[in-house]
Amino acid sequence: MIDVKHLDKVFGDNHVLKDLNEHIEQGEKVVIVGPSGSGKSTFLRCLNLMEKPTSGHIVFEGKDITEAKSKEVNQIRQKMGMVFQHFNLFPHLTIKDNITLAPIKLKIMTKEEADKKAMELLKRVGLEDKADAYPAQLSGGQKQRIAIVRSLAMNPEVMLFDEPTSALDPEMVGEVLDLMKQLADEGMTMVVVTHEMGFAREVASRVMFMADGYILEQNTPEEFFGNPQNDRLKDFLSKVL
Ligand code: ADP
Ligand code: MG
Repeated sequence: MIDVKHLDKVFGDNHVLKDLNEHIEQGEKVVIVGPSGSGKSTFLRCLNLMEKPTSGHIVFEGKDITEAKSKEVNQIRQKMGMVFQHFNLFPHLTIKDNITLAPIKLKIMTKEEADKKAMELLKRVGLEDKADAYPAQLSGGQKQRIAIVRSLAMNPEVMLFDEPTSALDPEMVGEVLDLMKQLADEGMTMVVVTHEMGFAREVASRVMFMADGYILEQNTPEEFFGNPQNDRLKDFLSKVL
């Protein structure tokens, strides 16, 4: 589904991603872990062209999207949902309008269709009573579940998650991870940057360790956690487990 070929990203004199080569298959759940500043967010952002690669190529569903024009980039982003640490909901819009804005604006759905879809999604996450509320009236866990269903409203083919639970109070982490697990069970292709090692163990088909702009090791969760090879990974795991 996604091929990454010789991806490099440089900010000024900071070489952040170094010749990454990856292949992500449909239905895979790739979990990326690693220390802060290692390039995890930049990698995700390059996948959906929120960052332009300095060199190398991103191939999505067989098409090289690296040089896509802005109109194509919008179409690509529809197929790659992205969820951020800080929710990024529009504060001045109701929850329902947050969900329906993009599908209506991009003429993917009529207002009626988008409203119907939004209410179905809200029902799914048990938040249909919040349709007319504003983001500020929701808890962090509720906001993040709304951010996820807002992405789902576009019927994406891949979901990218960048530390979706890192800004949440501990008691709200579970409700967000549960929703992500449901998506995984339904077969969604997912790339997830997280510090939640339990989630990685349980859900990942593959776990990657990123450090200094390299993917230093990747494996099934069993091997990754049970039999790590790289010394930096061993050190990292000794601190987080
Ligand atoms: P991680 O998500 O693993 O914490 P990031 O991808 O956010 O790492 O950052 C990797 C490096 O790239 C850091 O040194 C960061 O300061 C730098 N960086 C990230 N985004 C930008 C940007 N837009 N402009 C300049 N430097 C950036
Ligand atoms: Mg990050």
